[in-house]
Amino acid sequence: MITQLTYIIAGGLFILSLRLMNSPTTARKGVFCGIAAMVLAVGGTLMSPSVDRFTWIAVAMVAGTLVGIPLAQVPITAVPQRTALSHAFGALAAALVGIGKFFVFSHGETTPFVTSAIIFEVLLGGITCTGSISAALKLQEVISGRPITYPGQNFINFSVLGAAVLLGVWVVIDPTQSWAFIAVVVLALMFGIMLVLPIGGADMPTVISLLNSYAGLSAVAMGFVLNNHLLIIAGALDGASGLILSIIMCKAMNRSFTNVLFGAFGQTAKKAVDDGKEKVYRSVDAEGAVEYLRSAQRVVIVPGYGMAVAQAQHKVRELFDLLTKADVDVKFAIHPVAGRMPGHMNVLLAEADVPYDNLIEMDEINPEMPQVDVVLVIGANDVVNPAAKDNPGSPIYGMPIIEVDKAKTIIFLKRGMGSGFSGVENELFFNPKTLMLFGSAKETVAHLAAEFKKS
Ligand code: NAP
Repeated sequence: MITQLTYIIAGGLFILSLRLMNSPTTARKGVFCGIAAMVLAVGGTLMSPSVDRFTWIAVAMVAGTLVGIPLAQVPITAVPQRTALSHAFGALAAALVGIGKFFVFSHGETTPFVTSAIIFEVLLGGITCTGSISAALKLQEVISGRPITYPGQNFINFSVLGAAVLLGVWVVIDPTQSWAFIAVVVLALMFGIMLVLPIGGADMPTVISLLNSYAGLSAVAMGFVLNNHLLIIAGALDGASGLILSIIMCKAMNRSFTNVLFGAFGQTAKKAVDDGKEKVYRSVDAEGAVEYLRSAQRVVIVPGYGMAVAQAQHKVRELFDLLTKADVDVKFAIHPVAGRMPGHMNVLLAEADVPYDNLIEMDEINPEMPQVDVVLVIGANDVVNPAAKDNPGSPIYGMPIIEVDKAKTIIFLKRGMGSGFSGVENELFFNPKTLMLFGSAKETVAHLAAEFKKS
């Protein structure tokens, strides 16, 4: 009874948590609701009369805590791969529960429904486990982020998946076929790796969110196997939200799902054609950049991965305050995939207490760009690269961008002429309206702020 009550409250809190995470202003409360829901879910389960031996649970909890604490300490730029590892562990747990249940039930008690749920659980759990580990290794650059492809790959991949599904159907028909069940598990684990290898690093966050959705569905199946309603609710929420997030990310990068899964993005990153002419760019120092900022009425700051990696957000806030005090209208242009995880820039700027009203989404800021005097691009590159609009041969062609090229002056603050995540060159560096301000983001923004105070 108490267990069921805690499950109902936890289910409500999980839903509320997702609702609150819809907006950066309430996201923190959403996280607390999620934590409370999970504590209730675990606590309620421990109070259930069916749980009577606690020793191994305690050992698992201590081991999980020992692994979880250092995992939570990673820098924010490594959050996508950390998230992938969490999915891998969750999916492994689901698959192991499925394997355990199969061998318990196979002594005659199973029904076709339960066996189907177990097959679904181990299939998705296995795929998600190895798929997520491969995605994390790619993002961490332990294995190459480039797509690994070979002829006939899709055919081989689908054959492996098809064989796993057929064997799964056979196990449902005849649950005494333990070897076929083991083959399903092995094929699912293999397919997880084969699914992720041909996908390039740039699409990895979308894949991770898709795998998140699979892990959720695997948990739903586990809920049916264990007859646990909360697992069904939480798994369904996880499955649906992962899928919605993947769709949002695909839209933001103008990629279709099939493209992400079979398109081998990143493979074709080509150098821009330079027709033999030496390209020239103009550079500026901090003092010069401050002159531009001071004489501007409207400034837009475009933050990107470089700001995140340099942890420059607090210095950026300082510069924002100085400019605002000097009556300059300053807005931040937020691209949905700037940085390395969805909402990355919102999180960093909120951490530095930049007023939320000054953060403007790409679609809203783009029409204003022609009226902007100075755009200060801080460690962003792909999200402002006009090749996405103008060069059909470019791997980023079709991705919506922040149209900084329409502003009167563009200042790029970055360490050198390096390309962004996609490896594509940015012709905008050589635009006559562009000034390159070289340096690492944190020190250079601090320098800009100091110069601004002096002037
Ligand atoms: P970006 O295209 O990766 O470019 C970042 C730029 O920052 C680089 O050109 C680099 O140039 C500069 N930089 C690096 N360290 C710096 C430092 N310490 N100080 C100053 N500059 C520094 O970044 P973006 O424009 O934010 O675009 C994000 C890219 O990541 C997109 O291609 C997106 O599709 C992809 N992606 C996004 C997500 C997501 O969910 N947000 C996830 C994975 C991938 P220098 O080396 O010359 O300094």
